[in-house]
Amino acid sequence: MQKNDLVTVAIEDIGVGGEGIGKVDGYTLFIKDAIIGDVVEAKIVKAKKNYGYARLMNIVTPSENRVEKPACPMARRCGGCQIQEMKYGAQLAFKEGKVRGNLERIGEVPIELLDKVMQPIVGMEEPFHYRNKAQFPFGKDKEGNIVTGFYAGRTHSIIPNRNCLLGVEVNEMILNEIISYMEENKVEPYDETTGKGLIRHVLIRYGFTTKEIMVCLIINGTSIPNAEALCRQLAKISGMTSITLNVNKKQTNVILGDEILPLWGRETITDYIGDIKYQISPLSFYQVNPVQTVKLYQTALEYARLDGNETVWDLYCGIGTISLFLAQKAKQVYGVEIVPAAIKDAKKNAALNKIENAEFYVGKAEEVLPEKYEKDGVYADVIVVDPPRKGCDETLLSTMLQMKPKRIVYVSCDSATLARDLKILCEENYQLEKVAVCDMFPSSVHVETCVLLQRRTM
Ligand code: SAH
Repeated sequence: MQKNDLVTVAIEDIGVGGEGIGKVDGYTLFIKDAIIGDVVEAKIVKAKKNYGYARLMNIVTPSENRVEKPACPMARRCGGCQIQEMKYGAQLAFKEGKVRGNLERIGEVPIELLDKVMQPIVGMEEPFHYRNKAQFPFGKDKEGNIVTGFYAGRTHSIIPNRNCLLGVEVNEMILNEIISYMEENKVEPYDETTGKGLIRHVLIRYGFTTKEIMVCLIINGTSIPNAEALCRQLAKISGMTSITLNVNKKQTNVILGDEILPLWGRETITDYIGDIKYQISPLSFYQVNPVQTVKLYQTALEYARLDGNETVWDLYCGIGTISLFLAQKAKQVYGVEIVPAAIKDAKKNAALNKIENAEFYVGKAEEVLPEKYEKDGVYADVIVVDPPRKGCDETLLSTMLQMKPKRIVYVSCDSATLARDLKILCEENYQLEKVAVCDMFPSSVHVETCVLLQRRTM
């Protein structure tokens, strides 16, 4: 197989980045925008020894799971969505199959057990407009017009689009106001190559429950000209609560800087997950799909089977979202998280909700828990973990096993590392009881899983 070869391929799988995967005479090809079931004509753009990448040239036979027309006309060029061209039901089936496949192959969970423990994937009724947070870059097109939208996959060229279907509808109105303001006041967008220009990005957040809106302009400077004019226009939008500037003068891909300067209204917005109230600043981490987050955390809570007498450890707790959810039903919750700012938010949110039975520690879960266990002999009825993609550290798993909690609830954003860790826990006296799969990110390849492990009674 060589560069520029034209091949016809049947797509059989989808890769981690959403690309279609097919084989020609045993040679594996990754083809962006092709979906399972398509037969496509593709041109090889990069050929390695055993695999290569090809560009989709023509769909010979479309998959029965292909939508006739993607809801967003930009879907193919934009890097934001990966599998929008797949019918939503097929996206769900693919994600459920992915989790199941990983548990079976990597976790070595017997098929009969999977049939028993896996619950049907929890999808969204309306798989668009689910994101409560959006970050739009500003730039110029070839004619010199100010544009905003999304980066094309893997590059930093802006595809103009003020109406992303994953975000809330009010985003468009906010972007229109900002661009009019920039044009009227001759405010230049930031140029990544020269490091010149003022406005880099806008971060917009929307509280689904409270309908409060936050607008934070990320700038290459410390002030904007005629800020009152911008605030006056934005403040007319119903729900506008917070307008701030964020200073980022570094030539970097990182969007946000550290400093926040207030412009209008409050510096935070409020939102709820279930009954728990959160105060969110431009710098806070907060789950982006509130509708599905509640469903996932309800499941974690249900799996924890709390009756009010339990001591619970919530490891990788972030801003304490799961911890505070659990604290409503447990005797005592301890949260551990590596990012100090997140722990600050967790403590603040506990106080805001008058929750007194949650305590938080900054540090690595694989260091804090072993230390507390060895030094203070801490105890857990239930341990909840929600690690990043790489999964749990082995030291942590071994401390968890020594602590012998009755239940372990494992929330995961990568079912491959989840499966790897489950295998270790299940070999040591834990029984896989339940698996829930929740679609937090429709049109992307990502999926969240929550499992319940119960300690076997001997
Ligand atoms: N449960 C939280 C966030 C989970 S995301 C929520 O639902 O909001 C995973 C979290 O693990 C992130 O906040 C990340 O900062 C944290 N993290 C990453 N490595 C860690 C480690 N070694 N020890 C503790 N926390 C870690």
